[in-house]
Amino acid sequence: MTDTPFSDQVALVTGASRGIGAATAQALAKAGAHVILTARDAEALESIEQAIHEAGGTATIAPVDLTEPDGIARLGAAIAQRWDRLDILVINAAVLPQLGPVTDIDPQEFNRALTVNVLATQALLASFNPLLKKSRDARVIGLTSSVSASPRAFWGAYASSKAAFTNLLECYAQETENITKIRVAIVNPGATRTTMRARAYPGEDPDSVKPPEAVASRLIALLGEDFPSGHKETINRA
Ligand code: NAP
Repeated sequence: MTDTPFSDQVALVTGASRGIGAATAQALAKAGAHVILTARDAEALESIEQAIHEAGGTATIAPVDLTEPDGIARLGAAIAQRWDRLDILVINAAVLPQLGPVTDIDPQEFNRALTVNVLATQALLASFNPLLKKSRDARVIGLTSSVSASPRAFWGAYASSKAAFTNLLECYAQETENITKIRVAIVNPGATRTTMRARAYPGEDPDSVKPPEAVASRLIALLGEDFPSGHKETINRA
């Protein structure tokens, strides 16, 4: 395999302003893809874009708030004007609401988590399905969590949103499997050193968990593999 296996491919990464999304966007660019970076924080996106350019890659930023009505449809229309296909869609952006008992879940926070983690996922798939169908080898990767399949006390808001996220992607994988070339993988990155992890485990030594680059490296390898649609995996300690 060459150093730039994705050299003629277009990739979109959500939540590319930090953490796993930023590391994945940089790794995709290093592997030759043109990467479209999206998240809310435009300055952070610009600095990731600059790092990609300095490393010899190419990227475009598209700041979007996934809770904004019509934001995803506008993003889809803008991308369709500039590119005739999408080869890689990484659905990574997510919100971790305050941990606590189900009876104490703040409805507004829950609503935001369901919007970003679930409703935006459906809107992204709806917006980008036509462009994915035009790729010779379209792959969708969704980042899930262990709590989506193994509920845990005090994680109800996040866990239920991630369960719905995973379920939605599995349905999409089945619906597209025999009639398109789109392949879907659902990946649990496992404990990873990010803002989200630090929020969930404030007392943890960050160096005791793997860096986001370790997740990015596995995702790049996976994207080069002939995985069946609906593939699921967990990334353990690197
Ligand atoms: P993170 O550091 O909190 O990053 C989350 C990303 O989502 C940021 O780029 C953020 O960008 C974006 N985002 C949040 N709300 C948004 C909104 N309304 N509109 C657009 N973008 C939004 O999280 P992470 O740890 O890298 O997590 C990445 C994925 O891995 C998530 O799906 C998470 O559930 C999953 N995961 C992580 C771990 C872990 O240990 N870290 C474990 C299991 C699963 P802006 O703030 O700039 O919008």
